[in-house]
Amino acid sequence: MNLAYISHRDCQGHRMGMHHPEMPQRLNAIQDRLVASGVEMLVTHYDAPEASIEALTRVHDNGYVHMIFDAAPKVDDVLTWVDGDTAMCKGTLPAALRAAGAAELAVDLVMGDRHHAAFCCVRPPGHHAERKRAMGFCFFNNVAVGAAHAMAVHGIQRIAIVDFDVHHGNGTEDIFQGDERVLFCSSFQHPFYPGTGASSKAPNVVNLPLPRLTGGAEFRKAVEEKWLPLIDAFQPQLIMISAGFDGHAEDDMAHFNLREPDYAWITRALHELAVKHARERIVSCLEGGYSLSALGRCVSTHIDELIGHR
Ligand SMILES: [Zn+2]
Repeated sequence: MNLAYISHRDCQGHRMGMHHPEMPQRLNAIQDRLVASGVEMLVTHYDAPEASIEALTRVHDNGYVHMIFDAAPKVDDVLTWVDGDTAMCKGTLPAALRAAGAAELAVDLVMGDRHHAAFCCVRPPGHHAERKRAMGFCFFNNVAVGAAHAMAVHGIQRIAIVDFDVHHGNGTEDIFQGDERVLFCSSFQHPFYPGTGASSKAPNVVNLPLPRLTGGAEFRKAVEEKWLPLIDAFQPQLIMISAGFDGHAEDDMAHFNLREPDYAWITRALHELAVKHARERIVSCLEGGYSLSALGRCVSTHIDELIGHR
């Protein structure tokens, strides 16, 4: 079975200024690489729907959601900054709604057995967005919206969310800490932005702070020891991934030295756990990744492993 690849042209309309690293070209770089690598042949494209207010308010404060709607500029060439490095233009709200809606559709497709795996090729990213706060290029927490949808609509009782972006998934932690239906695993450079996650706040959060210059061998060893046995014991009915590729050696945003084979390795490990426990159901949402070339190569590799080699 091929993979559901969910995106929307509205995701290109979100722009935070000429030199902002979270740029629309990121999605073009991914699409170009999928074509060049032949992985494009293995995916089925879907247009992301807009997330509903109901879906957003499962994980975000009602007042916060309305603040984001109200803050959205109504005219071109205006930026409204909602955080030191996070701005809204006229196209931001439609993009953010599609990004969160993509995660919902992805869950529907894998739970309906239309596909066993789905990748949401969307921006803005989501994992820094807390229940009541936009930050770190994120407005709505896409992976959290998808997970809450899986629990509320599909009756899923155990979801593992694995976040291997180089930054701590503080937003996802904020939303799900203490919720025993979710096992949240986040690896990240520490100390580094956003400064959270040094210790896990709740038993269902497994943070993995790693020092700058962490390479593939150290990363794999930590994941193998700290995460894989816990996820196996948790027996998730669905695995979701916050797939950030800014830990790549070529990415200037941070200081890890991961490479495509490392992202392939962790994706394969998660796919194996999905085969064992979750009827192979796995939903991945794009987070960071700012070196356009490395991002394209990593996503291509990631999708190839999500599909599985059977
Ligand atoms: Zn990141």
